[in-house]
Amino acid sequence: MNSENLPGLYLHIPFCRGKCAYCGFYSRTDLSLIPDFLKSLRAEMTLYREAFSRIDTVYLGGGTPSILGASHLEVILDAVRRQFVIADDAEITVELNPGDLTARALRTLRALGVNRLTLGCQSFDDAVLAFLGRRHSAGQCRDAILAVRAAGFDDLGLDLIYGLPAPGGDPGTAFRGWLASLQTALSFQPEHLSCYQLTLEADTPLAATLALSPLSLPDDDLSARYFLTTSERLEAAGYRHYEVSNFACDDDHRARHNRKYWDHTPYLGLGPSAHSFDGTRRWWNPRDFDAWVGALRDGMRPIAGEEILTLDQLRLEALFLGLRTREGIDMEAYRKRYGFDLCAERGDKIAQLAAAGLVRADGYRFSPTRRGLVCADFLARFLS
Ligand code: SF4
Repeated sequence: MNSENLPGLYLHIPFCRGKCAYCGFYSRTDLSLIPDFLKSLRAEMTLYREAFSRIDTVYLGGGTPSILGASHLEVILDAVRRQFVIADDAEITVELNPGDLTARALRTLRALGVNRLTLGCQSFDDAVLAFLGRRHSAGQCRDAILAVRAAGFDDLGLDLIYGLPAPGGDPGTAFRGWLASLQTALSFQPEHLSCYQLTLEADTPLAATLALSPLSLPDDDLSARYFLTTSERLEAAGYRHYEVSNFACDDDHRARHNRKYWDHTPYLGLGPSAHSFDGTRRWWNPRDFDAWVGALRDGMRPIAGEEILTLDQLRLEALFLGLRTREGIDMEAYRKRYGFDLCAERGDKIAQLAAAGLVRADGYRFSPTRRGLVCADFLARFLS
C-alpha cells in the first residue's frame, strides 16, 4: 500500500470557549472536562491501534484544538505517535482559532511535527464576526497569521464564510464586504483557502434568530454569484479550485486528509461525534461527552451507530463526492472499483451535461466545470 492510500486519523477536540451562532459541530464549553477527555482519548487510541496501525494523515479538528494549549496538544500528539505508525511524509494538521493562539503553542506544534495549520478566521470584517458570534476580531486574525508565519509554518489554510444575510436589506453591501474579506485573505498569500457558504443548521441560535427576523440568506441566484465570483477571483490569483469549497495554491497543497473523505480511503475518527470508515463500514461516536467517556471507562469502543454500505451505495456516494471535485471521475477506475460502466450506461447524459457547459469530458474522465460545481449535487442526481 503506498502512502497515498494509507488511512487518515481524525481527532475531534470537543471544546470551545463559547458557541458560535451558526455552528452545528459538537462541542462543550466546560473546560474542566479536559483531563477526562485526554485520558479517554488515549484509551480510545489503544482500542483501534491494531485495526488502523499505519496512517499518513493526522487531523486535529473540533471544536477548538488550540484551546488546549501547548502541553495538552503535546500529550495528544505524543500518544498518537506511540499508538500508530505515522508515514514519514505524513500531513499533520491542526485547526486553530485566532483568539487562542500563543507563540509557545505554535513552537510546540512545530517541534511535534505539525506541518499544516488551518486558521478559522471566517471574515476580516468585525461586524460579520460579531454577527456570526465569533469570539475574535479581524485584528486578531491578522495577528494570528503573522504569528503562524513567524513560527515558521509554510502551509497555512484560512477558513472563510460567505453569504450572510444582507445588513439593511442591501445584498450589494454584503457582497462587496465578502470580496473585501477575500482580498484581505489573499494579501497574506495562504497556501490554502476554504470558502464556505453559510448554511442554517437546525437548533442553532442563528436559525432561531432568522426565523424571527426579516433577514434571510441569499437566494439561489445570489448564492451562485457568490460562488462563481469567489472561484473566478481566486483562480485569477493563481489558486486551483479543486473542490466545491476548497482552493489550493498548487496541487501539493490540496488537503490530503480531506481527500480521503472524498475518495473512500479509510479513516479513523476518535473523540465524541467523530465518524470512521473502513472501506465498507461507517460508524460514529456519540455526540455526548458522558456517553463517550462512559463506554471507554468500560473498555468498550464508544460506537453510537454504524452502517454497512453496499457496493451500489458506495458507487452512488463516489458519484456525489467525485462531482464535488474538479478532478471529477475517472470512469475506468470507477468501473473497476464499483462495477458500473458510466461510459456505457450514462454516456448520453454525460454528453448532455457537456453540451450544457456543466462538465468537461476528456476520454475516460469527466469533471465539473466551474458552473457545474455550483450544482454538483444536481449533476450527480442526473447521472445516478
Ligand atoms: S464554529 Fe468552531 S469555534 Fe465556533 S462553536 Fe463551532 S466548533 Fe466552536
